[in-house]
Amino acid sequence: MTQQRVVVLGAGYGGLTCLLALAKRLKHSGVELVLVNKHEYHQFITELHKPAAGSADCEYIRIPLGQIVSRRRVRLVKATVDRIDIENRKLIFEDGNELAYDKLVVGVGSVPEYFGIPGMQEHALTLRSLNCARTIHEHIEYQLASSKVVKTEQERQACRTFVIGGAGLTGVEMAGELAETLPRLCRRYDIDPADVQVYNVEAVPEIMRDFETDLARRVARDLERKGVQLITGVPIMEVTADFIALKDGRVIPTRTVIWSGGVRANDLLERSGFPVGARGRAKVDQGMRSPASPDVYVIGDCAEAVDPKTGKPAAPTAHNAIDQGLVAARNIISDLTGGPRAAFHPVDLGAVASLGESFAVGYVGRFKLVGRPASVMKEMIELKWIWSLGGIRMVLLRLPRLFHLIKVALRRKAPYRPLIGPACRSGA
Ligand SMILES: Cc1cc2nc3c(=O)[nH]c(=O)nc-3n(C[C@H](O)[C@H](O)[C@H](O)COP(=O)(O)OP(=O)(O)OC[C@H]3O[C@@H](n4cnc5c(N)ncnc54)[C@H](O)[C@@H]3O)c2cc1C
Repeated sequence: MTQQRVVVLGAGYGGLTCLLALAKRLKHSGVELVLVNKHEYHQFITELHKPAAGSADCEYIRIPLGQIVSRRRVRLVKATVDRIDIENRKLIFEDGNELAYDKLVVGVGSVPEYFGIPGMQEHALTLRSLNCARTIHEHIEYQLASSKVVKTEQERQACRTFVIGGAGLTGVEMAGELAETLPRLCRRYDIDPADVQVYNVEAVPEIMRDFETDLARRVARDLERKGVQLITGVPIMEVTADFIALKDGRVIPTRTVIWSGGVRANDLLERSGFPVGARGRAKVDQGMRSPASPDVYVIGDCAEAVDPKTGKPAAPTAHNAIDQGLVAARNIISDLTGGPRAAFHPVDLGAVASLGESFAVGYVGRFKLVGRPASVMKEMIELKWIWSLGGIRMVLLRLPRLFHLIKVALRRKAPYRPLIGPACRSGA
C-alpha cells in the first residue's frame, strides 16, 4: 500500500488544531502529514488590534511555524494556494507547483466583506493579518507626521481623524486600543491630543451584538470616556481618500478608515468550485466534510457549519474554528483507521473584548467579567492557546507574555488617563 498523505491547508486556529491532533494520533501510522501556509508563521489574529494601534510589537503576536512543527513528523510547505483541484486531488500553488493529497483539510480563514459600500475597498485599511496591522500602524504615524506639514485646515483635520467602521468585537477593540495609544503617539509628533479625533461608526443601533446589552453599554461608556465618538445606527455610505459620508448627511474629513464591519470566506473555495452558502462560506456536513468530495474537510471562518439547534451557521470565531479542527481531525482518523465519527455542535463558551490595557469586558458561560478579571481572562485565553501549540516549552519561549499576564493580574488600578476627545477638549 502507498503512503497516505494528509494535507492541512492554513495555519490558523482551525488548521493548527487539526494538524496537532492528527500528529498526535497518527504518530506511528506511517501517514505523511503536510502543513501548507502562505506565511512561515502563525499569527494571533485575535490580537491584531494591538500592533495596529502600536501597543504591542509584531513579534508578540506571531509564532514561527518551525517552532510548532519541529518535534512532530510534519512537513512544512510555505506557499500560497491558487486553486484546489478537487477532481485530481491536488493543490495548485501560485508559482505553478502542485501538491497531491489523499485527505485535505482547508482552513484558509476569511477576508473583509465590504457590502458594496462605494470606495470602501479602495480606501479603507483592514485588520486581517500581521501585514495589515503593520500597514495600519505605519499609516497612522504617517498621518500624524503629515498633519504638521499640510497646507489647509481641512487637510490637517483629515490627517488627525481616525475612523473605525463597524462596532463588533474587532471594531471596538481597535477603537479602544487606538484611543489609548494615541496620546503617546501625539507626544512623539508634538501634537496636542485634543486635536485628534477617533470615531467608531456602526450601521445598526447596537454595538457588539454577541454580548449582552449591559456589557455592550459598559464598552460604549469606556469608549466615550477615552474620547471615542461612537456613532450608531448610521451606515457609512461612501469612503474617499479624504472623507467619509454617512447616511444622515454628515461628512467626516479623514484619511484613515479601518474597516471591521464584517467578513466573508476566503474566495479560494468558491474559485475552486466548492458549493458555498452565504458570504462564500463552503457548505459542510456535521462532520465538517465538504459535499464536493469525501476526502475534503473545510473548517473555521471559510466553512458554513450549521448549528442543528438553530439552523443558523456557526459564528466565524476562533473557538469555533478550534472545535471544528478537532472534529475534522477525528473524522480523518476514522476515515483512515476506522472508529466512530465526530459531529460539530457549536458551544458558546464565552468571549472577551479588551479595549486597551485599561479595560476589558467578557463572559464565560453565565458569568460576566468587567475590568481586571476580564483582562486577566483575555491574557489566559491567549496563553492557553500558546500552550496548546507547544506546551510549557512554547510558553517559556514567550516569557514576555507570561510577565504581561502577571502584570495585568497584579496591577492596582487602571493606568488610563483620558487625554483625547471631548473630555480633553472641554479642559477636563
Ligand atoms: C482583530 C480581530 C479580533 C478577533 N477577536 C476574536 C476573539 O476575541 N475571539 C474569537 O473567538 N474570535 C476573534 N476573531 C475572529 C478569529 O480571529 C477568526 O474567527 C479565526 O482566526 C478563524 O480561524 P481560521 O482557522 O478559520 O482562519 P485564520 O486564523 O484566519 O487562518 C487562516 C490561515 O490560512 C492561511 N491562508 C489563507 N489563504 C491561503 C492560501 N491561499 N494559501 C495558503 N495559506 C493561506 C493564512 O495565512 C492563515 O494562516 C477576531 C478577528 C479579528 C480580525
